[in-house]
Amino acid sequence: MNGISRFKTLETFQPQAARILKNGITGNRLSHAYIFEGPMGTHKLSTAYLLAQRILCLNPQTDDEPCGVCQNCIRIQHGTHPNVFLVKADGEQIKKEQIKSLIVEFARMSVEKGSRIYIIDEAERMNQDASNTLLKQMEEPLADIYAILLTTNSNALLKTIVSRAQPIHFKPIDRSVIKEGLMALKVNELAANVIPEYTNNLEEAQKIADSKELMGILELVVELYKIAGKKEASMTLRFKETADRVLTNVATMDYFLMLVILYQKDILNAKLYHFDQLVYKTERQQIETLSKSTSQNTIQSMLEKMLALKAKLRYNINYALAFDLLIAQLERGFYRGT
Ligand SMILES: [Zn+2]
Repeated sequence: MNGISRFKTLETFQPQAARILKNGITGNRLSHAYIFEGPMGTHKLSTAYLLAQRILCLNPQTDDEPCGVCQNCIRIQHGTHPNVFLVKADGEQIKKEQIKSLIVEFARMSVEKGSRIYIIDEAERMNQDASNTLLKQMEEPLADIYAILLTTNSNALLKTIVSRAQPIHFKPIDRSVIKEGLMALKVNELAANVIPEYTNNLEEAQKIADSKELMGILELVVELYKIAGKKEASMTLRFKETADRVLTNVATMDYFLMLVILYQKDILNAKLYHFDQLVYKTERQQIETLSKSTSQNTIQSMLEKMLALKAKLRYNINYALAFDLLIAQLERGFYRGT
């Protein structure tokens, strides 16, 4: 586990969740069942681990943070503490057997003294049998057990389960927080502006910034649009030279397309004089030039083509051909005067 290891950090991302949990700790009235509800990438899982650490920490700090260095804190960080149990979907669903084995595991003598905490990730994936088994456990809880259910949609959970737990809402992360996080890591301004548009998960954003491959794709997109509209260079050729090397799988293609779509939207925004909405702020001059060298219709129709290709990425299409075609069409859309 990595990510959020202190409530102080959690406050930056999820002030409300941090406040509720800290109040529970300080007042010694933590609920025995929580539902953390919120979109992907809102730090629900690392918050669950943070809470587990605080509950089991051997040496809690005066400010109510877990110490982070005791035997229990370390084992929770490494996912090896026997009293902390994570249930994840086995395939599409969380099955009854998984909930049963959780209950059996917790009843065993090998579990250490003290509190036991189970975390169910993507709890909405529990099938009917699994939900009923969990409900039974929640109705007759063993002493000193904490349940933390994580979900993107608590409406998909049994109402009887929801009514037994305290809900905590996790809000989508503010893009400016991700940007600040990246700037603090000395990520260049271009990437710090663009990556938060791709993910609102700081950990994922950091991974992208650390990846030579993904940073190279961002540079390629910027370069391609620099070439667009230039007489002496070919966007299509430049793309063909590099595509095989950088667009190696569906994930990188999806990322590339998303970056192109964001750039194309910037050109549209420049055409409409919405300069405050630019994502590629460092490229403003080039974006403005390009917006003047094409029509609004062309910009929009290209955007639609890009979105259509993005939707098709899941299917087994001839990617190389589809991408070559897209870039060639894009290039033709700009007057090539300068
Ligand atoms: Zn500790």
